[in-house]
Amino acid sequence: MESNHFLNTIENFRRVAEKCQIHPDLIERLSRPRETVKICLTPLMSDGRVHIHTAYIAQHNRALGPAKGGIRMAPSVTLDDISALAMEMTWKTSLIGVPFGGGKSGIVADPESLSPQDKEILIRSFTRSAIRHIGPEIYIPAPDMGTNERDMGHIRDCISYSSGISVTRGCYVTGKPVLCGGIPGRREATGKGVAITVGLASRLLGIDLAQARVAIQGFGNVGAVAAQELFRRGLKIIALADIHGTIWNPSGLDVDGIQEHLRGGNSLATFPGSEPIPSSELFSLDCDILVPAASSNQITPANAENIKARLIAEGANGPTTPEADQILRKKGIFIIPDILCNAGGVFVSYLEYTQETQREQMTVEEVENRLQQRLEKCFEEVFSNARAGNIEMRSAALEIAIRRVADAIVCHGFYP
Ligand code: NAD
Repeated sequence: MESNHFLNTIENFRRVAEKCQIHPDLIERLSRPRETVKICLTPLMSDGRVHIHTAYIAQHNRALGPAKGGIRMAPSVTLDDISALAMEMTWKTSLIGVPFGGGKSGIVADPESLSPQDKEILIRSFTRSAIRHIGPEIYIPAPDMGTNERDMGHIRDCISYSSGISVTRGCYVTGKPVLCGGIPGRREATGKGVAITVGLASRLLGIDLAQARVAIQGFGNVGAVAAQELFRRGLKIIALADIHGTIWNPSGLDVDGIQEHLRGGNSLATFPGSEPIPSSELFSLDCDILVPAASSNQITPANAENIKARLIAEGANGPTTPEADQILRKKGIFIIPDILCNAGGVFVSYLEYTQETQREQMTVEEVENRLQQRLEKCFEEVFSNARAGNIEMRSAALEIAIRRVADAIVCHGFYP
């Protein structure tokens, strides 16, 4: 059974590709992943038992370079989700202008119920079993929902250890800790990119950042850094949600205080100086900017009509369904589409890839400057295309990305 996310991703792609008059053969070719793999993992866990877990890898397209995309660990992740996310990575890498294609992997497991030791065992089991599909010229994973920097360090260690060498030959994985081959600023790059694009869009829309009120869904790799960055830039974060609860304070939440509270082992929902509200109310709050930074299909026809924000910054991948997109368009809400808004992570992953390949060292200042410059250039390119064609930002971004991939396929030629 195909998931909504998969169908929505194909629908968005076909709508734009047909409008751009991409050849029908290419549309068919790009409507499906080039390769998918299902792997049965059988790690021996710390309870002394073998646990069976399924993992998936999808490579959507490699016309612009090796497949790039994170590893999602979630109890309900499916091959269709992974295929949709791999396709979105093809457009994202193309749009942001890095020489990668689109890929993604998934491990069916609940990261919250695993001890650190068992998560490491599972990640190493995935790496050993998937090794034929991972490599600097094949597919380079990174963190996504449910995985983090530590997991990427374990992947790299597993690969170098099995080869009997202290480092890997080239970059097999990005988003690693700096002390084992990572790049400073990668962990923050996606969330910082969200904040950068919010700044650019706010300037266009005349939103005064000193007065702006923001609601954010998701407080993980992306949502927490975006909250921190926006808070530091003086925006008022009035609501935050994670999977366990949603908190609200119309006068603004102390994001530094929340980080401190969480470091003490507490939950977001119990943060003092905030009021818990039902999670269903988050999107209808009176605010200026909404940042979905959790999972896909969160903004649907059921809640889109009630959204009051003027600007939506898609930190998550695929958070808005095509039907909801139409409602938001009619309401005149400006959307920074996911393939632009959260592309900071894959851009800095590319810097990590080149750093490791060339045995270079980059400073956090260099990384942040290049991130800022690339996002500004890309935002401007998308906005100009939107204005020229009188279309919204999502179609404008997809047009640029799809044309580039289609042109690359034609450059490679069709053999036989
Ligand atoms: P994460 O696992 O670090 O954090 C996810 C957060 O979302 C957690 O706080 C979780 O509690 C919360 N959450 C999950 N479901 C929720 C729900 N229904 N309601 C409220 N909160 C919910 O994941 P992440 O890496 O921050 O990824 C978040 C999104 O950003 C995903 O869509 C991912 O594909 C996308 N993304 C991540 C990166 C990256 O570099 N990590 C890059 C690009 C895009």
